[in-house]
Amino acid sequence: MQHNGARGPYKGGVRYHPEADLEEVRALASLMTWKTALAGLPYGGAKGGVQVNPGQLSVGELNRLTRRYTQSIEHLIGPNRDIPAPDLGTNAQTMAWMMDAYGSIHGYTPAIVTGKPVELGGSIGRDSATGRGAVFVIDEICKKQKINPKNTNLIIQGFGQVGSWMAQIAFEKGYKVIGVSNVNGGIFSNKGIDIPNLMEFYHSNKTFEGYQNVEHISNNDLLISKCDFLIPAAIERVITEKNADQIKAKIIIEAANHPVTPEADKILESKQIDIYPDTLVNSGGVIVSYFEWIQNLYQHQWEIERVNSELQKIITKAFADVYDNAKNKNISFRLSALSLGLDRVIHTADLRGYI
Ligand code: NAD
Repeated sequence: MQHNGARGPYKGGVRYHPEADLEEVRALASLMTWKTALAGLPYGGAKGGVQVNPGQLSVGELNRLTRRYTQSIEHLIGPNRDIPAPDLGTNAQTMAWMMDAYGSIHGYTPAIVTGKPVELGGSIGRDSATGRGAVFVIDEICKKQKINPKNTNLIIQGFGQVGSWMAQIAFEKGYKVIGVSNVNGGIFSNKGIDIPNLMEFYHSNKTFEGYQNVEHISNNDLLISKCDFLIPAAIERVITEKNADQIKAKIIIEAANHPVTPEADKILESKQIDIYPDTLVNSGGVIVSYFEWIQNLYQHQWEIERVNSELQKIITKAFADVYDNAKNKNISFRLSALSLGLDRVIHTADLRGYI
């Protein structure tokens, strides 16, 4: 699904999920349009979906499915047309197969997909980019509110690609991570969790069960625990009208896509809890995907320091735009981010002379 290409080639992930459908893919494609515009990237928005449970397929079946899918859409995608990336149920290996299938028709084209393995032209730093970007957003909020990271605590729901990197990076910067969780439940400690130690445990055990000197709690109890920053970084719709009233966090950072429902949004607004929206917070992933695309077009690889510092520049600018616009117009950060993205797309469409 290609939503809007006024600002540049379409960009978005491909998901393999049993419940992927056109409505969901259309909504996610539009989210990419506003997200890329907000970050100032020269892209439009798109999304792809295949209704399948990837967990039930063998590696060979996944490889053949990906090749057939790529052959079916090869006339719609291209490094200057539409550049897919991984999403739910797909990963760097899927992108390697897509690149290979596209290349077998068009010749070697690493810039056709992003999120590839580094050996095939993927960007160094892409794995941590979304989590790192989200922590840069928290840094900027602390600067605005003149709060010291050392006196600031975080709760993170989700300990996957985004959540576990956020926990590590935030810990390194001196924030106190007091709670984390995965699909099976969470752990909590008011004293703060030793994240490097937890990472070691989690790496070998793949679970929080048996981790000592912390309280073991449910996901919902974690979400309603008192904290400065609450960071849903797992799935969509976890803060709803059922639990919004019990949220005790001062600020919500939407690292996942759509974690707060519109009904919950209203309740949180009435409680004066600030929400920094997904289009801003998790844009680090697509920003570093953009770096990967540039590197592929030039057949050149950047050092990690360059990736991280360019990421910081772009996301800090997007944060300042959202913050200033919200304060100037007295609107929520969500509305500010959406209206900025929308204005930029409309302006480009006007310049192009779309009728
Ligand atoms: P992931 O699959 O690596 O990790 C997801 C984590 O959430 C896991 O720890 C899992 O156990 C946990 N989880 C799953 N269901 C849960 C539930 N019902 N309750 C609590 N925890 C649950 O996924 P990810 O790549 O870290 O993505 C997380 C979110 O961030 C998604 O919404 C995704 O769309 C969004 N996002 C990710 C990226 C990226 O670069 N990975 C970029 C933009 C947005």
